[in-house]
Amino acid sequence: MVKFSRSLMKELSRCIGCGACNISCPMFHVSDFKETEGARARIKLISMLGNNKIDLTEEFLGYIFTCINCGLCMDLCPVGIDVFDIIVKSRSSLVDIGYVPLVTVDMRDARRRTGSPIGEGLTKGVWLPPDFQPEKNADILFFAGCWVHTAPDVAINMSKILQKIAPNVAPAGPNEPCCGGLLYVIGERDSAEESKENLLKFIKELSPKVVVSGCSLCASLFPDLEMKYFSSFVDEALESNKIKTKSMKRKKNKIFLIRSCHSNGAARRILERIKNAVVIDTPNWICCDCGATLIYQSEPEKFDEWFKKISEIASDSDADYFMIEEPACYSMISKVLEGKNKYKGMKIISFPSFLVNHIS
Ligand code: SF4
Ligand code: SF4
Repeated sequence: MVKFSRSLMKELSRCIGCGACNISCPMFHVSDFKETEGARARIKLISMLGNNKIDLTEEFLGYIFTCINCGLCMDLCPVGIDVFDIIVKSRSSLVDIGYVPLVTVDMRDARRRTGSPIGEGLTKGVWLPPDFQPEKNADILFFAGCWVHTAPDVAINMSKILQKIAPNVAPAGPNEPCCGGLLYVIGERDSAEESKENLLKFIKELSPKVVVSGCSLCASLFPDLEMKYFSSFVDEALESNKIKTKSMKRKKNKIFLIRSCHSNGAARRILERIKNAVVIDTPNWICCDCGATLIYQSEPEKFDEWFKKISEIASDSDADYFMIEEPACYSMISKVLEGKNKYKGMKIISFPSFLVNHIS
C-alpha cells in the first residue's frame, strides 16, 4: 500500500475538481482534451491512490510520470494548489518506496555512468573554441546546461551574445556538473540534491561575478544556485542599454515563438524590440524546455504528436520562423526533424542563433 505524507494528502483534499489546471496543460490540448492526459486527472489519480481507492499499476505510473513537466498547471487553480509540486512530490514518494517507471531508472543510471540524466552521446564542451576555456573570477560564468552541449551552434551563439554584454566571459567547460533539475522533476530527490551541491561547489571554486544558465529549469528550480537564465539576463542587458537590437532587413517577419516553460517571457520581450520582427500571439499552453526530456525519452510518439500539433498551429498562423527559446527543446525538435532546418515552409531556428545576428 502506498502512503503519501499527511501534508500531501491535505493539499490533495483541497482540490474541487474544477479542471482549470487542464486549461494550461499542454498534454491535455495535444491529446484533443482527453481527460486522462490532463493535470486534473493526475491530481485525482494521486488522491485516489493515497486514499487506497485504486491499485498502483504500470498504467498509473504512466499517467504520473509522463507530462512535459512545464509547471503551468498551477497558474489557474482557483484554490491555489501547486499542482506541479504535488506531481513531483508524489513521484518522489513513489521513487522512495521503489516504484519507478523504466525511464527514470534509465535516467538515474545514465547520470551515474555519464554524469548527466540525458545519457549517452553527450560529451560536454566539445564546442569550446581553444581560446574560450574555464577560468576563475570571470565577469560571467556561462553554465550551459546538459542539453546545450548537444547543440554546439546554440552554445557558441549564446557565448557570443554574452561576450557582447561583458568583456570577460568564461564557460563552465567540459567538467560542467549537471544541476540536477531533471532528476528533481522525476522524483529522484537525493540524486538531484547531490548534483546541485556539486554544482554549488564548482561555482564557488570559480568565483564568478554572475552565473548565466543556458537552461531555464536549473535557474528556476534552484534559486540558491543564484543563476540568471540566459534570456532574462539578455533582457536586463537591453533594458540597461549594455547592448542594442538591430532591425531585420525584410519587412514583417512573422515569428512563432515556443517559449521556455520556466522563463518569464523575456525572449518575447527581446524579440519585440527588433524592428520588423512580428511575434505571433500563441496560446498559453505552448511552451517547451528541458522538462520535456521525460516524455521525449519515455514516449517519443507523444513528443512527436506534441510537435506535430504545435507546428500545425504555427503553420496555420503563416509564420516565417518557428523559433525555439530553450536549447534543450531545440535539440529534441532537431532530432525529430533529423536536422532539417525547414518545416512546413517555416525556418526552424533557436532563439540564440537568431538573436546573435540581431544584437550589437
Ligand atoms: S506539468 Fe504541464 S504537462 Fe504536466 S500536468 Fe502540469 S500542465 Fe500538464
Ligand atoms: S485547478 Fe485546482 S481545484 Fe481545479 S481541478 Fe485543478 S488542482 Fe483541482
